[in-house]
Amino acid sequence: MEYPFEKIEKKWQNIWQEKKIFNASNDSEKESYYVLSMFPYPSGALHMGHVSNYSIGDAITRYKMMQGYNVMQPMGYDAFGMPAENYAILHNSHPKLTTEENINIMRGQFNSMGFGMDWDREVSTCRPDYYRWGQWFFKKLYEKGLAYKKKSFVNWCEDCQTVLANEQVEDGNCWRCGKVVRQKELEQWFFKITDYAEELLDFSGVMDWPERVITMQKNWIGRSEGTRIDFKLEGTGEALSVFTTRPDTIFGCTFMALPPEHPLVTKWLQEPGATPEMQKFCEDVMNEDKIMRTAEDTTKKGIYSGRDCINPVNGEKVQIWITNYVLMDYGTGAVMAVPTHDQRDFEFARKYDIPMKIVIQNKNNDLVLEEMKEAYIEPGILVNSKEFDGMDSIESQSAISAWMNENQMGESTITFRLRDWGISRQRYWGNPIPVIYCDKCGEVLVPDEELPVLLPDNVQLGKTTSNPLLSVDDWVHTTCPKCGGAARRETDTMDTFVDSSWYFARYADSANDKEPFSKAAADMWLPVDQYIGGIEHACMHLLYARFFHKFMRDIGMVSCNEPFAKLLTQGMVTKDGAKMSKSKGNVVDPQYIIDRFGSDTVRMFMLFSSPPEKDSEWSDTGVKGAFRFLNRVWRIFDDNLNLIKSASSTYNNDNLSEDIKKLRFSTHHMVWKVLHDIVDRLQFNTAIAAIMEHLNNIYGIGNPEALNPDEQSVYAEACLKIPPAMYCFAPHISEELWQLTGNTNLLHEAGLPGYNKDYLVKEEITYVIQIMGKVRGKIVVPVNTSADELKKQALENENVQKHLEGKTVRKIIVVPKKLVSIVAN
Ligand SMILES: [Zn+2]
Ligand SMILES: [Zn+2]
Repeated sequence: MEYPFEKIEKKWQNIWQEKKIFNASNDSEKESYYVLSMFPYPSGALHMGHVSNYSIGDAITRYKMMQGYNVMQPMGYDAFGMPAENYAILHNSHPKLTTEENINIMRGQFNSMGFGMDWDREVSTCRPDYYRWGQWFFKKLYEKGLAYKKKSFVNWCEDCQTVLANEQVEDGNCWRCGKVVRQKELEQWFFKITDYAEELLDFSGVMDWPERVITMQKNWIGRSEGTRIDFKLEGTGEALSVFTTRPDTIFGCTFMALPPEHPLVTKWLQEPGATPEMQKFCEDVMNEDKIMRTAEDTTKKGIYSGRDCINPVNGEKVQIWITNYVLMDYGTGAVMAVPTHDQRDFEFARKYDIPMKIVIQNKNNDLVLEEMKEAYIEPGILVNSKEFDGMDSIESQSAISAWMNENQMGESTITFRLRDWGISRQRYWGNPIPVIYCDKCGEVLVPDEELPVLLPDNVQLGKTTSNPLLSVDDWVHTTCPKCGGAARRETDTMDTFVDSSWYFARYADSANDKEPFSKAAADMWLPVDQYIGGIEHACMHLLYARFFHKFMRDIGMVSCNEPFAKLLTQGMVTKDGAKMSKSKGNVVDPQYIIDRFGSDTVRMFMLFSSPPEKDSEWSDTGVKGAFRFLNRVWRIFDDNLNLIKSASSTYNNDNLSEDIKKLRFSTHHMVWKVLHDIVDRLQFNTAIAAIMEHLNNIYGIGNPEALNPDEQSVYAEACLKIPPAMYCFAPHISEELWQLTGNTNLLHEAGLPGYNKDYLVKEEITYVIQIMGKVRGKIVVPVNTSADELKKQALENENVQKHLEGKTVRKIIVVPKKLVSIVAN
């Protein structure tokens, strides 16, 4: 017979909700603890990844409540964006309707899992009461000079008809649809995240993040120290700046490599001298995938720009080439090419017959230009480098840099790989950028009292080749807030990553209609104590949120420096070794499993199958195993309920058998293990394993009716420790058993189970017996065995007697808890 999970789970979900036990208080005496899982897109159905993710957050929430904290675990929806827009198009509806429908379905699923969310704090980024403040933040950024508009080449996804941030391009493809991303020149809004580049590299202080995520962010930000060198264009005297980490090679620079996206190239293409070949070359390259362009084995190609510049260190002429193998993403975009000492430049120069010059000679002094088959990239001795000749190439770097500084040819500088965050999106379902364009006044911000700029409902969706907002005439045409004249609205909407860059702070005060949140509320809850989400957000959401948080700090809205103190990046749920996905056809619907086995089983399986940061492989057998385990727990209580309830909590130690003492050890060891594994390490799987092992030990005792009353007390305790130990993982069944055994409070009120250290001492101990330093046997004895008794037993050991034959025992030494050493000859 199966335990009645359906009845039990519904019952406790109702009780928790009625008693509002998961509603966090903003004025509590208790210490606060903030558990946050990344919010989902309202796709309309929870998937296994969500269930796994939120089971982890819920276990931590309940655990912290048992510890006596004022815990907040809020939930919301990342509701703007293309998935929602496309979903509505597909269902011939409006995203406003489908999104709310989906949210209701998902909230129902959250509740059927029994997750302890504070629903009073729910946010949805597509509701005006939320996106109003996103627009407000845009204005604040604008006022501080951190939001600006510029024309530039951007990542363009033809399929999604929108721009993508660098962070949203994965291996040259759109992170959303997987299609190749192209470069397109557009006027775009940017947030100046680069102003915070240096600070974003600092992970000290409260931050307890996985090393892997820190490394990913550091690499993404990509700080490098080097030298900016100014070349002058021949004829015009215009400056062309390059950034290099190798000033030691400057005397060997024979050409300049520019990407077609470089502003100078854009300018040249509009000048009379631009040839059709140059035009075509640039267009072709810009249509290529950026990753492919820079791959090592890609054929390097280029076209001479017809222009030269002058190497400031030696006055030599340097040809300027437009090439496919450099990108605007690094340094200034322009690369000073040193063919003899850089492999890519070497290949390119050989192909196009560009002059080369050796400036670093090898140790044997036998590097000959004509014989070179590849670039010489090792350190060496400088040659052809004027007064630096003879210097070690590594040592010369700072010397040359200083010399150029002095002579105003360049400057020591730090550069970052990180670029400003392009936030303009040409889609309907997003937060409108609160800007109005007036012919007279130019760019005008929408006044605060007119926020939010509401998204118009009457919009034509579907396969459009442009932003659907452009077609809503009465929305686009408006009046200028400054002069009252005719004006146009900005039709770009904000990247949805803007919406998710501050939601964690809104939860602290989500009903506030005067400001995004009060500082007092933010200071009470931030930083988030435990954040949980996927590693795929390492260089997107997790970076943007840190930037936003630092900005909020700088305008006095929050006090702390970082949004997320502890971060857990949970693994994926896989099936047959691959991530669950519709396209692979290996999706398991959580609702089906919940209906069949209950929420506690699903949670147990998820948390037991692997440590939370590792991927977990879905297994039907595993789910059934978790279900069987909960049934076995249920049965032990069901079969022995009266005995467990009526057993005395005190007993006489002398009346306990060795087996019952072992059970007592098992009980206390299990509790110790559960506490230890959760508190210090969040290793739920080993904590659950300890409970499972303990249950086996209880079953090992057999029928408790056969025990004496003192032993029955120990047996009852062995059972009674299970509900509080299991509460974080399987809360419904735990509450039910807790109540069945006569308790009137709820488990989070009962607090964490305790253990007695004295009972953790093993009752038996193994002694090694040595004769003249050699191991000759082992004996297992009760812990409190006397030294005399130990000596006696050691001498009685069969193998020991064999080795003592014909010898006289001179001395026996007992090392407590370890060994008995016999001296004999
Ligand atoms: Zn796309
Ligand atoms: Zn105006």
